Amino acid sequence: MQSFVTNSGPFAIDQALDYARRRLFLDPIPLDGPLSQAELEERVGQTITPEGLGVTQAMNLYEHTLAEACLSTDHPRFLSFIPGAPTREAAAFDVVVGASSIYGGSWLEGAGAVFAENQALRWIADLAGLPDSAGGVFVPGGTIGNLSALVAARHTARERASRAGHAQRPNRIAATDNAHSSIVSMAAVMDAEVCGVHVDDQLRLRGDALREVIEAKGPETFFAVVATAGTTNFGVVDNLAEVAAVCREYGIWFHVDGAYGGAGLAAPSVRELFDGVELADSFIVDPHKWLFAPFDCCALVYRDPGLARAAHTQRASYLDVLTESPEWNPTDYSVGLSRRVRGLPLWFSLAVHGTDAYVEAIEGTLAVTRFAAEEIGRRDYLEAVREPDLSVVVFRRLGWTPADYQAWSERLLAEASAFVVPTSHRGETMTRFAIVNPHTTTDDIVAILDSMA
Ligand SMILES: *Cc1c(COP(=O)(O)O)cnc(C)c1O
Repeated sequence: MQSFVTNSGPFAIDQALDYARRRLFLDPIPLDGPLSQAELEERVGQTITPEGLGVTQAMNLYEHTLAEACLSTDHPRFLSFIPGAPTREAAAFDVVVGASSIYGGSWLEGAGAVFAENQALRWIADLAGLPDSAGGVFVPGGTIGNLSALVAARHTARERASRAGHAQRPNRIAATDNAHSSIVSMAAVMDAEVCGVHVDDQLRLRGDALREVIEAKGPETFFAVVATAGTTNFGVVDNLAEVAAVCREYGIWFHVDGAYGGAGLAAPSVRELFDGVELADSFIVDPHKWLFAPFDCCALVYRDPGLARAAHTQRASYLDVLTESPEWNPTDYSVGLSRRVRGLPLWFSLAVHGTDAYVEAIEGTLAVTRFAAEEIGRRDYLEAVREPDLSVVVFRRLGWTPADYQAWSERLLAEASAFVVPTSHRGETMTRFAIVNPHTTTDDIVAILDSMA
């Protein structure tokens, strides 16, 4: 029996840290890939037993079967969805966070860590040009970030409506079809209604189309407009300045979802696409996407954090010592109470490298994306669907059916050479590269495009 007091602890620490070292030093990183439930049952079997497996057996099962049945999102040819590409500094520091038992919900319990997280948030707020008063919290992902911002927005709109003596309780969000799926999902959680706004021929949300929808439904029924700064499928940045102006005109909360694309704020070559973001009431960016931090990490920043606090602070007698303190309690700015200090891996990597290295790395991925778009243009069997705004390029293989895309994608994975899946746009199957990994090279791009010839 592995009683806690028999103390396999020291051995487990060695084994786990040794494994972490091996994984962090892997070069090249293997792509790996999924097994079926049946295959895993056969190879792994039952792991939770009354007696316990002991350290050696459990670690072996993890390293040699379970871990290998997971795709490495940091493989340089993992270009599907949005890859993960943490710096080694950030990934290594996640081990430190895991070792530290820090409660990141309150200043009282996590002051030092929260102080550091807030400096990382400040860097992001400064990139966006938000005022000194801006602040927020690192939450698990863009979905929770969007939810938290929208909850704060609705709370603010309803408080204001009730102070003005209006019976109307605003319950609408304006967003385009290209907004991330989490907007519709989180609106459902909130029992709010999403009103669709048409995009222009560049797939962007524009001011006039937005104004039309707001006027048609009644401005007083809206509590938020969501603009996307880098759509997930295409990397399109909405016209933020126009959207901001409409929001100001009607007094509606302006939320900018930059979960994927927000990192582009740091890149001079694309910065002007984001003009208007400085007027956002709330803004998110996922450092686990294009800011080289490990999962799971979303930076959520509010222009006026007091509005978020009013919406999110949980009250209970045993929390009084926290809620009545004047210090910064991260938990007051999002849904959720307990939290790990998930912003620290980003903070550590930023502190080590300095922000210039981030600018360079982001510009590097943009350069590889531009190369990919040019290379697609040079090949007669390929056609780009749209010039990339950021680091996503969507393209078609002329003559291919959906089954051809699927077979090609499966072949690449089976050969462990790349992970690129089909996507679709307006009913047509095509494929897509999302390039956020600084280790993805132009050679990687050429090899994948060659495989489609
Ligand atoms: C990825 C993404 C989200 C959701 O973020 P998660 O971290 O996966 O919850 C939201 N919006 C956009 C634009 C995204 O790219």
